[in-house]
Parts: sequence; C-alpha cells; structure tokens
Amino acid sequence: MPPPTSPAEPGPARTAETVIVGAGPAALALGTLLRCHDLGPVEVVDPGAQWLHTWHHRFASQDIAHLRSPAVHHPHPDPFALLATCHASELVRSGQANLPTTAAFARFTSELVDATGLTDAITPASVIALRLLDDGEAVLELSDGTRRRPAHVVLATNRRLPVAPPPLQPAATDHPNVRVGDGCDVRTTPAGGHVVVIGGGLSAAQLCSGAAARGARVTLVARRRLAVRRYDTHPTWLGPRKLRPFRAEPDPTVRSRMLAQARGGGTMPHRARMRLEQLAAAGQLHLRQRAQITGVEAVGDRLRVCIDGQDTLVADALWCATGGQVDVASDPLLSEVQQRHPLAVAGGLPDLDAALRWPGTNLHLTGAAAGLILGPTAGNLIGHRRAAQRITASMRDLDPERADRITTGAGACPQLGSWPTSSTAAPARRTGVAAARTGTTTRQARPTPAGSR
Ligand SMILES: Cc1cc2nc3c(=O)[nH]c(=O)nc-3n(C[C@H](O)[C@H](O)[C@H](O)COP(=O)(O)OP(=O)(O)OC[C@H]3O[C@@H](n4cnc5c(N)ncnc54)[C@H](O)[C@@H]3O)c2cc1C
Repeated sequence: MPPPTSPAEPGPARTAETVIVGAGPAALALGTLLRCHDLGPVEVVDPGAQWLHTWHHRFASQDIAHLRSPAVHHPHPDPFALLATCHASELVRSGQANLPTTAAFARFTSELVDATGLTDAITPASVIALRLLDDGEAVLELSDGTRRRPAHVVLATNRRLPVAPPPLQPAATDHPNVRVGDGCDVRTTPAGGHVVVIGGGLSAAQLCSGAAARGARVTLVARRRLAVRRYDTHPTWLGPRKLRPFRAEPDPTVRSRMLAQARGGGTMPHRARMRLEQLAAAGQLHLRQRAQITGVEAVGDRLRVCIDGQDTLVADALWCATGGQVDVASDPLLSEVQQRHPLAVAGGLPDLDAALRWPGTNLHLTGAAAGLILGPTAGNLIGHRRAAQRITASMRDLDPERADRITTGAGACPQLGSWPTSSTAAPARRTGVAAARTGTTTRQARPTPAGSR
C-alpha cells in the first residue's frame, strides 16, 4: 500500500459535468445515455483520441468477422437501434440470434457518435492521477498537464492485468516474438513459420484461424479440453432467475465466486471449434488439449517451447491468449480512493453501491470492474448498457436498481431525433430490419434471453 497522500485541496474550478476516462464501448454507452437525458456536458479522456480505438484494434488483430454477442447488444439504449441500420447480409445467424458483422457494428457506433455529437468530446490524453478532495470529489490529473474537477467521474478504462502462463513470467514475455493478450496480432504472422498459440477461448481460436489463413503452421496448446459455448456467459444471467439471487447475496466474496463459476474458463462457439477441426484435418493445425507449456527459451530469433516437460517445439512466434484479470487493488488511479475510502474488494473487484459509485466519492466505475453489482456480463456490451442505465438513473435521482425498466426500449432516446430508423437506414437496410424483426429473428428481438458475448 503506497503512503497516504495529502488531499488535492483546494482543487481546480469545476469543469464539464461528467468526465469519462476511456473511450471504449462502455464509455460510449454512458455518453449516449447522458445525451439522451440531457445530463450536461461530457468530456471523454483517452490517449487513443478516437472512440473505440482499442475495440477496433482488437477486432483487426484477431481478424474477427462478426461479434459473439447478438445484435441487440450495443451502446445505444434501444436494443433494436443496431438492427435498424443493418442489411440482412450484415447479420450472421447463430441459433435463434443474429450476430452483427464487425463492419456493421463499426458503422453503427460511428453513426451513434455522430448522432450524439460526441465526436469532439474526446481529449487525447491519459489520466495519470486521481486525487480526492476532502468532500470526496475527484480531481483528475491529465498527461497534458491539465486538471479536471467535474461533478461526476466515471472510470471506463477496462484495466486488466494480462494472465500469462507461469513459465512465461517474467523474462520470456520480453522476447519480441512472445506476445500476450492484446499484443497478439495475426497481421504479424510469420508466413511459412510456426506459431504456437496458448489458450482455450475464442481469442485463441481466432488467432489460430488468422495465422493459418496467413500461411503459418499452428499449434494450439490448451490446458483443458476445448469447451463449446455460444456465449461466454449463459443467457440466463441476463434475467432475474440468476441475477436476483446474485444481487441478494450480501457477501461480496460469495458473489465473486458466483462470477467465477458463471464465466468459467475460456469457451468458443461451435462455429469456431469446427473451423479448428477443419484446419487440423487439413494439416495446418496441431491441437494439443489438456497440455501445458512448461518452459520457453530463446534460440536466436526463434523459441524453444517445452510442453508438459516432455515434447519440445521450435516456434517462430508464441501468442498467449490467456485472458486478463481486473484487480482494483493494483490500479494506480484507485490507490488514493482506496486509502481514504476503504471498500470491500473480492476477486479484484470493488463492492460498489447500486449506482456503481465508490461510496463517499463522486467516482463511478463501469465495465468489468462493476462485476460484483452487475454480474458476469459486466464486461460485455449488455453490461455496459446496464451500467450506463444505473449511473444515469442516479444522476436523475432515480433508483439505480430499477434503471433498466426506466430507460430501455424504443424511444429510449428521443434526443437523437429520428436516428437511426428513418434518417440513415437505407431502404435496403430497412428490408433487412424488417426481416430481422420478424420470422426467424423474432425471438432475438427480445433482449432478455439473448446471451452475452
Ligand atoms: C477480442 C474481443 C472480442 C470481444 N467481443 C465482444 C462481443 O462480441 N460482444 C461483447 O459483448 N463483448 C465483447 N468483448 C468484451 C468487451 O465488450 C470488450 O472488451 C470491450 O472493448 C470492453 O469495453 P470497455 O469500454 O470496458 O473497454 P475498452 O474497449 O478496453 O476501452 C478502454 C479505454 O480506456 C482507455 N484508457 C485506459 N486507461 C486510461 C487512462 N489512464 N486514461 C485515459 N484513458 C484510458 C484505453 O485507451 C481504452 O480506449 C470482446 C472482447 C475482446 C477482447
């Protein structure tokens, strides 16, 4: 625990009503809802300088063609808003749901940013410190040397510590051909080379497919047998059946265990699993299930990778798609908050109040960090929408627990005028929407039973 710091008294003059730190989909869901309810000026601080730049980077680096989550999950409060902009050819069928293509989602979010007038809300900087005044108000220090003291601060940084397998800690991760988490990028595939991918989730599967498509030989090493699941969290977690007992549980440690159980380890949809089978049948992929990396050493530019202490592979690249963990205790932006307003933390997550606020402060957290309140989908698009609903409800003096009943559904955002249905949806797209809203997709139109990612 770092030594206590003195409060940032007297603090700079009041700035924008709300400052959101981070410009990912969680921030966009909140920025949109703030606009929908006319809740004052919004400033968004992100060094990436563009909305969803991290999202776009991840989708490009894994060559992802479509989302894992259904088209009713996105940053607009009306679940049907994305479908209204999609042509039928931009929806990929998955069971009873339709998944938007990466391009359709990118176009929709870009139009949403325009429609909400949030394009220029971004300040291209990092928040490097978060200080607290004596009354619990947060003061932000930015990398450009300026400070902010807004009425509300929302952390949407999605800070995660990458989880690398033990033999890769710490020295091997420094090797230029060893990549972890967001650093794995199929566009860097050594053509004709050998790529070893570690992991058992959808990201691992996508990296294998992307590397194979670029002419590499691939070995996938997974600790467990590969598990097939349509979404990363079972759809029952979107409704009251699972959420009610979760929210009623007073002990954050028990809730944290429920989260871990609900998300389990990595899983992949059937389609991704089938693609791996095809690559294996074609001799492009060697699948090593229930196997572990036990050693890695550099051999010039290449790597010698030992599996289960027995087999040795020589690889040109080693990619660890082994996930990441939220840990607020180690987040430097939250160190002063934790010292001055100690809060129960379980599984790395803080036990926030119902408005996702750190009690005693004007600081809210959204995204995966709000998991102890929102449940296992907190880090997904549907969780971002629910977080935005809770935060804006509290700003409007409404009950955050009942937020989703207040703000969802058609007409959830009259401030955006006729967008998206009549102004931007071309007739051909509307045909797609009509198809999406009826017949085979009628069930998907109900947001509750659809899954998370
Ligand atoms: C490959 C992949 C595919 C996914 N697909 C889906 C899907 O199909 N459906 C679904 O529901 N979920 C999906 N998810 C999960 C989740 O929706 C995404 O991870 C999403 O990007 C999380 O959004 P976010 O806004 O919380 O964080 P991010 O998108 O990670 O954005 C956080 C932002 O905060 C900024 N930031 C960080 N620190 C600071 C700082 N100190 N100061 C200022 N800015 C800062 C970063 O630059 C970044 O832009 C996927 C995740 C991954 C990894």
